[in-house]
Amino acid sequence: MTTTTKYIFVTGGVTSSLGKGIIAASLAKLLQAQGYRTTIQKLDPYINVDPGTLNPYEHGECYVTDDGAETDLDLGHYERFLNVPTSQANNVTTGRIYQSVIQKERRGEFLGKTVQVIPHITDEIKERVQILGKSGDYDIVITEIGGTVGDIESLPYVEAVRQLKWDLGDNNAIVIHLTLVPFLSAAGELKTKPTQHSVKTLMESGVMADILVCRTEHELPDELRSKLAKFCNVREEAVIQSIDASTIYDVPNLMLEQGLDKVVLKKLALESYTPDLTNWNKFLQRHKNPTTEITIGLIGKYVELQDSYKSILEAFIHAGAENEVKVNVEPIHSEYLNQDNIKVKLSHLDGVLVAPGFGERGIEGKIEAVKFVRENNIPFLGICLGMQMAVIEFARNVLNLKDANSTEMDSKTPHPVIALMDEQKNVTDKGGTMRLGAWACDLKMNSLAQKVYKANTILERHRHRFEFNNSYKEQIEAAGMLATGLNPDTGLVEIIEIPEHPWFVGVQYHPEYKSTVANPHPLFVAFIKAALKHKKTGKSASMAQK
Ligand code: GLN
Repeated sequence: MTTTTKYIFVTGGVTSSLGKGIIAASLAKLLQAQGYRTTIQKLDPYINVDPGTLNPYEHGECYVTDDGAETDLDLGHYERFLNVPTSQANNVTTGRIYQSVIQKERRGEFLGKTVQVIPHITDEIKERVQILGKSGDYDIVITEIGGTVGDIESLPYVEAVRQLKWDLGDNNAIVIHLTLVPFLSAAGELKTKPTQHSVKTLMESGVMADILVCRTEHELPDELRSKLAKFCNVREEAVIQSIDASTIYDVPNLMLEQGLDKVVLKKLALESYTPDLTNWNKFLQRHKNPTTEITIGLIGKYVELQDSYKSILEAFIHAGAENEVKVNVEPIHSEYLNQDNIKVKLSHLDGVLVAPGFGERGIEGKIEAVKFVRENNIPFLGICLGMQMAVIEFARNVLNLKDANSTEMDSKTPHPVIALMDEQKNVTDKGGTMRLGAWACDLKMNSLAQKVYKANTILERHRHRFEFNNSYKEQIEAAGMLATGLNPDTGLVEIIEIPEHPWFVGVQYHPEYKSTVANPHPLFVAFIKAALKHKKTGKSASMAQK
């Protein structure tokens, strides 16, 4: 379609959390739906090499790609919107940029020269931006610059954008600046001044915004658009309103109504077509018109911050739409769950998901939750740490292995049913050293997992150091918990299930990372189906048993 890749930079002004990732993903969706091969990249100005060592309270969920990159959660949005996998190249941090430049310096690649922010750091940024374009896989690369224009740490990125715009030429690189147009209720007015100032800040660094996307709670009146256009040096058609939406999945259509795709394509001198959003809109139709609703308990220790479980929450939306059911997710803090309150907290639920996590805090509550759902036939999905808790619970309460545990929580446990993977035993660094990325898993014939996936081998993404201890496998299987998914090369247990239970599945991997609008994850779809069935028939059946 095009011979040279076109670049779109998305910067943010006024405040953080304006939703640059969603705007970038929505624009990408519109371009993809017109036949342009589009990808999105995120540049994060912090000094961590990747977000893998960050607490979810700091930065939300850490998203994992097929090739094992631990990345910003925005990459999850990109994949969910585009249904195209991202990779290491799609997320770059200041830490990674500096690490690479310093390694080059040590190798002597800059011999004789002083290594400086300009040109060495900016050159490295420019190179990282163009890696995706040069792969030949994409017509358009959208690069989202994290942070807010004016931040000290964003400066090298803005300078790299300025240079790239100059290097690549007018129709090959554009800047979309996302800002806030606040509504002052006391004055009853929308205010343009913060946007004017943030565009000015961008101009001080030599970058002219081509398009303004204005986040607002109220419709932007025409006179306000012309005022913004005039004072910010953009055409009126390039002032795009981004009004608050009830779901992020509405944003592509809202941007289409505003003509964002048209202005972008015009500025890039590309042909504009009517985007084919048929499947997207079918999904929206189902998502917005559920026939019934269910409630799923999400048991974790970071539940105060919804972003910590972003991909799980989105996977529920996809699976809910697929089943035409509204999935209400009830966050339940595992730290406050105990034997005394477990019934009150869980018995009304139609399904329970025990979330991934690290460390000891809140794990006894997770184990109590698994015991309750196992004994009361409530559908259960355990992810990563959630699966490990299911194995511990089974060992303690069914096999009577007192104090069974994971060596992560209790290194001296008499029954280490979950233990450190062999390959992890000599690992000392914390960053980027977990078992990461996509690994194959063979599914046992006629298992629930095999029926759900309708496949014999699957590829799923991992992020962990501990594993099911195979020396307990025989004992655990004999008592009724089966290992139904195994890594073909190492024999690591990736899936456990209890066939006696209506729906009880634990997975060592993270299915939520692979759920997209176009491809809702089969495990989530089946879990929601089981929860629906439980709501209709299971609850009364389990009451009758008592
Ligand atoms: N902490 C556990 C491990 O490292 C589980 C990790 C997770 O839930 N992602 O194995």
